[in-house]
Amino acid sequence: MTPIHVIGGGLAGSEAAWQIAQRGIQVVLHEMRPVRKTEAHTTDGLAELVCSNSFRSDDSDQNAVGLIHHELRRCGSLIMRCADENQVPAGSALAVDRNGFSDAVTKALEEHPLIEIERGEIAGLPPQEWTSVIVATGPLTSPALSEAVLAKSGEDALAFFDAIAPIVHFDSIDMNEAWFQSRYDKVGPGGNGKDYLNCPMDKAQYDAFIDALIAGDTADFKEWEANTPYFDGCLPIEVMAARGRETLRHGPMKPMGLTNAHNPDVKAYAVVQLRQDNALGTLYNMVGFQTKLKYGAQADIFRMIPGLEDAQFARLGGLHRNTFLNSPKVLDAQLRLKADPRLRFAGQITGCEGYVESASVGCMAGLFAASEQIGHMLSAPPQTTAMGALLAHITGGHIARDDGDGKPRSFQPMNVNFGLFPPVEAPKTDETGKRLKGKDKSRAKKLAMTQRAKADFETWIRTFELPVAAE
Ligand code: FAD
Repeated sequence: MTPIHVIGGGLAGSEAAWQIAQRGIQVVLHEMRPVRKTEAHTTDGLAELVCSNSFRSDDSDQNAVGLIHHELRRCGSLIMRCADENQVPAGSALAVDRNGFSDAVTKALEEHPLIEIERGEIAGLPPQEWTSVIVATGPLTSPALSEAVLAKSGEDALAFFDAIAPIVHFDSIDMNEAWFQSRYDKVGPGGNGKDYLNCPMDKAQYDAFIDALIAGDTADFKEWEANTPYFDGCLPIEVMAARGRETLRHGPMKPMGLTNAHNPDVKAYAVVQLRQDNALGTLYNMVGFQTKLKYGAQADIFRMIPGLEDAQFARLGGLHRNTFLNSPKVLDAQLRLKADPRLRFAGQITGCEGYVESASVGCMAGLFAASEQIGHMLSAPPQTTAMGALLAHITGGHIARDDGDGKPRSFQPMNVNFGLFPPVEAPKTDETGKRLKGKDKSRAKKLAMTQRAKADFETWIRTFELPVAAE
């Protein structure tokens, strides 16, 4: 049997290589470090954590990331095993000793009899004789490879400076303050003139908001980030605010064409608009609110907006260089490049965000590739599971309709979160028959989601027809 080639020994590539080898199939893992470095990695180790040492919440009952931990463990994940073995105290989060973790992953892969590790950059499309390849080269994919993939996929842009606006869980928005309305009640294709959520501000609220934006703590650019160009029109809101107090009121916060449904006689001084971000309508993004403010400052400042006082953020904003594919357009449901199906993609380059998410896409890509090699078509995990929900985001199942301009919604990277899951029926009362409210209601809903996910994941892993090799 010909080996499967995995390019990139990060979170995704390491997991993919492991999953394939554990199914008795040979793997060649190509990692360019130390021959060629990236702007963020500092060691030669596989699965190096470039920033935080946290895998975030390990609570698989109440947290979508914790649920991914659970699903990865159920697949025999190397990343999770090494994280568990190298855990450091961090409350309910799973944090690791970063060097111990990376050393453990490197050792396990180096010692696996079916894995060969080659150090060196793959500086272009892989040779044709590599019939099955997983590209897991991350947000800092070397330019030679990203340019080759770009040319092959026929896309205009692959690597660019990525401006992202925060995303809010719909059920945390106060609808006594916010209302649905498109500007000038304009009806776009598939819309009804009520496509946006609007949060009004009076003059005093606007002034206080602008002051807070200007004073807010912003993240510093790394030197290498300064060399990557911005997209036009993607200025951070705090930069716009600093250009003049009225700039935002004439830009993303303009109040024109909107009438406060709760208070029609009073004209808002400024309006923050949120737009549906997924087909389920569980997530809304803050239109034009790309920002370089630090996470803590963002949460504090954005909760000053009427209607968002209790906002729960599925993702906070950020502005950093990122390389990712327009996956819903160029990848199929098995993570293969439509233009060259021998190439599969995994990790952050597919448009997931975060260590654990990257490892989980690596896990799925490894399982898909291994299945294909033995002539079995492994179906995607159900969308009710954390991996399935993330895969659906990546491969297009969750992209909301266009914005009325006939162009598809631009695809943005995403952490796993409950907004990506289909709605679930949750208990409305406790054991005593008392109606659940507030936090209790939210906990019951999350538990119902995770219980459904765990049951459906067990059904999915029973469909594997893959042998498990001895370690
Ligand atoms: P990586 O882990 O980056 O692995 C890709 C590997 O491919 C690298 O080892 C690279 O050397 C190799 N490679 C690249 N090009 C080639 C080539 N042509 N040939 C051979 N090898 C190649 N996520 C979090 O969850 N928490 C954080 O705190 C966090 N901080 C981040 C900070 C920065 C500066 C960046 C850039 C990202 C951060 N992320 C963070 C996101 C993080 O990159 C991903 O979560 C995760 O590391 C992505 O996994 P991956 O396997 O896709 O890519």
